[in-house]
Amino acid sequence: MADAKPGRNCPRCPRLVAFRKTWRAREPAWFNAPVPSFGPVDARLLIVGLAPGLQGANRTGRPFTGDYAGDLLYETLKEFGFARGRYEERADDSLELIDCRITNAVRCVPPENKPTGEEIANCRPFLTATIAEMPRLKGIVALGRIAHDSVLTALGVPRSHMVFGHGCRETVGAFTVFDSYHCSRYNTNTGRLTPDMFRAVFTQVRQHLLDGGIPARREPPTSAARSSGIIPGRRPAVRNKT
Ligand code: URA
Repeated sequence: MADAKPGRNCPRCPRLVAFRKTWRAREPAWFNAPVPSFGPVDARLLIVGLAPGLQGANRTGRPFTGDYAGDLLYETLKEFGFARGRYEERADDSLELIDCRITNAVRCVPPENKPTGEEIANCRPFLTATIAEMPRLKGIVALGRIAHDSVLTALGVPRSHMVFGHGCRETVGAFTVFDSYHCSRYNTNTGRLTPDMFRAVFTQVRQHLLDGGIPARREPPTSAARSSGIIPGRRPAVRNKT
């Protein structure tokens, strides 16, 4: 199995290597390399994002750090006890993750935030290895459809096992996968994802861990999820894109 961490000069994706070279020349003080996972390896929760943002994680070297998406993510993680300290949009701030780890489906920054299918597949062995190296892992939050699809493939189940939908949850082997719309600027600005909808996902996750993280195939909606209009475990009538 591949290492969970690609080397700084990972050669797997020629397009991403070329993009990295361009940005190393343009901004030599930036991180400009595959962004490693953040948080303790013995965490029970893994959050999977899409890929580093150019001026965010690719610049700072920590997932979601300096990215617009990090504001909502880290605020929510603090609220649910999955983080403490001060998030200051830089990798050497005092922010610490608690029982939670964050990684990306694609470790290198892609042009226009859009990795190709081949790049997602090239990077998947790192996701598989990241999941495999977490001995206490119980829950995985997939931020967006691409993360969702890559997580299912990494876990060795067909996509038909779980259709992506905000607030959906499903048992996949020993884990429970929770879906959320990605906390991107686009999704939050357009109202596709509100802070309450995001919180509702983490309410489910926290409850799941409080319950011992035991996988269950179908579970009734929590009251928080009901009031936010999402039905855990049920496929939404409308399929959403991200
Ligand atoms: N930054 C990340 O590290 N991942 C994302 O998915 C988005 C922004």
